[in-house]
Order: sequence, then structure tokens, then C-alpha cells
Amino acid sequence: MITRFLSCLFTAVCATAAAQPIVIAHRGASGYLPEHTLPAKALAYAQGADFLEQDIVLSKDDVPVVLHDTQIDTVTDVATRFPDRKRADGRYYALDFTLDELKQLRATERFDAKTGEQIYAGRFPGGQSKFEIITLEEELQFIQGLNHSTGRNVGIYPEIKRPSWHREQGHDISAIVLPILRKYGYASKEHSCWLQCFEWLEVQRLRNELQWQGRLILLMGSSDKTPLAEVAGIADGIGPPIGSIFTGKSPAERTVTDLVSAAHKAGLKVHPYTLRIDDLPKSVGSVDELLDLLVNEAQIDGLFTDFPDVMVRWLAK
Ligand code: CA
Repeated sequence: MITRFLSCLFTAVCATAAAQPIVIAHRGASGYLPEHTLPAKALAYAQGADFLEQDIVLSKDDVPVVLHDTQIDTVTDVATRFPDRKRADGRYYALDFTLDELKQLRATERFDAKTGEQIYAGRFPGGQSKFEIITLEEELQFIQGLNHSTGRNVGIYPEIKRPSWHREQGHDISAIVLPILRKYGYASKEHSCWLQCFEWLEVQRLRNELQWQGRLILLMGSSDKTPLAEVAGIADGIGPPIGSIFTGKSPAERTVTDLVSAAHKAGLKVHPYTLRIDDLPKSVGSVDELLDLLVNEAQIDGLFTDFPDVMVRWLAK
């Protein structure tokens, strides 16, 4: 009798406890391999990430490619391969190159375009081995192929990059990306896909004008003041920087803000960015402390990380 009572109690407690936050591989396992390359995605998959992120920009011939920036001179050898193709601002843009040309470039670990220095010195050595720029379709086929061969169901987390800038340049990136997502079976909220964008106007356009019926995340900067009740009328969640989840410059002064609880009250999920073990916020002493703060104290629903293995191991403890 007592055993049965305890078992019922246990079931009830477990049912009410928050679900484990999802592990979102930020540009793949980018802490270990050049961001957005297929090897970085394969490693994140093998490390147990729940979702793999794709940042999306367009090529000159309107092919969606997986790159974080509209400029390509900080993650490829474009400046030496096509030295006369920079714009007046001195930068090289994916939108000025056909897919065939982008495929001729070597992708590499992120570096400063001015100094040539690698951004994270401890990460994969720049210029070594061979990596290429991947199209969105190549990556979706890759993830779905792995889902087939492993029996897992790892999801995708695509981001439409700078849609208003793309439109100013004469390219409607959202209208090009959505049919590809639908073609690969990502169309409703039951499918393993979160679509994300920083531009609130575009998030509304995706939902209303372009009729996206899948899950939708509004990414937010630290000073974003879009009312959460308004966001909840359109999107399913928000992606704020981790610095807006807590305040205080030292562990002693640190307090959790009301952002997560306010978002939850509005019915929104919260997936902050970004957990980097080689770039921790100054007010936390260790990665375990940061994860405890975000997951147990603030109760986030998911987290972007360059190091999926670290979060997977911590959650398993
Ligand atoms: Ca992103």
C-alpha cells in the first residue's frame, strides 16, 4: 500500500517537474570544428544534441547556404581566391557569389578579417584540413540520413539571417527557405523544427503572410523591448542572450531576472544563447555553475551551445 502510494507520488512529482531543456548545437559542435561545416554537425549529432542549428543566407543565384554572416571573409579563403570581388566596405558577401563559386572556397575556423587572428585560439586550427560551405538542402539530407541510420530524431533549428537586408538587395530569403523546409517535411508544430529570426517584423510576416505553421522563435538582443504578450500571439518562444537571464558582475551580486518567468507566464518557451566553455560570463565561476543557474534556477527550456557534449553530460548527472 505504502509502496503504491509512494509510486503514485513519484509519478505525480515527475509529471509536474519541468522537462529537461533541449540541447541546441550552436552552428554544430563549433567549439571543436569550424562552424557550420558538415563535420561540425556530425560531431554535434554524435555528442547527443537534440537540435542542430542552421544559419541561412542566400547565394547570388538564390541558393540558401548555411553560414552565420552575410559576409564570408571571416570563415573562408575568399579574400585570396577572389581578391577583386569585395564591396566598397572592403567585405565579401555570399550574395555576390554563385553557389558554384562558393563551393570553390575553403571554409575554416573563424578569424578576424583585419588581423587574420583566430577568434578562439584554443579551437580547431585555422587553415588546416579541408572543409566546404554547405547548402541548406545538403545539411537537411545529412541530418535526415543520420536520423534514418541511427533511428534517432534529431531536429533542425534554422535561422533566417538579415531578411530585411536580403530584401533591400532584391532577394526574399524567407520566401525561398520556407518551401525547402516544407519539402523536407518540416511544416507544423509536431515536426522537429524551430524556425528563428531576430527581426520581429519578419517573424510576424513568416506567420501571417507566408503562413509558416511550424514552431517559431523570436531572437532578442539585450535591449529588445517587444512586449512578451504580443510575441506570444505570433511566436512559440524567445531566444534572448544568456546575459539577460541574470544580472550582477560577481557571483555574490548575481540575481536571476524575471524574463524567464514572465515569458513562461505568457506561454513562451525560452532558449537563450550561447554556452561557451572558453568564453564564460565574468559573473560565473564555472560551466557547472552557469548551467545550474540557467537550468535549475532560471528554468530555461533549451540552450544554444558550441559544446553540446558538455551540456549533455551535465544534464545526465
Ligand atoms: Ca544563429
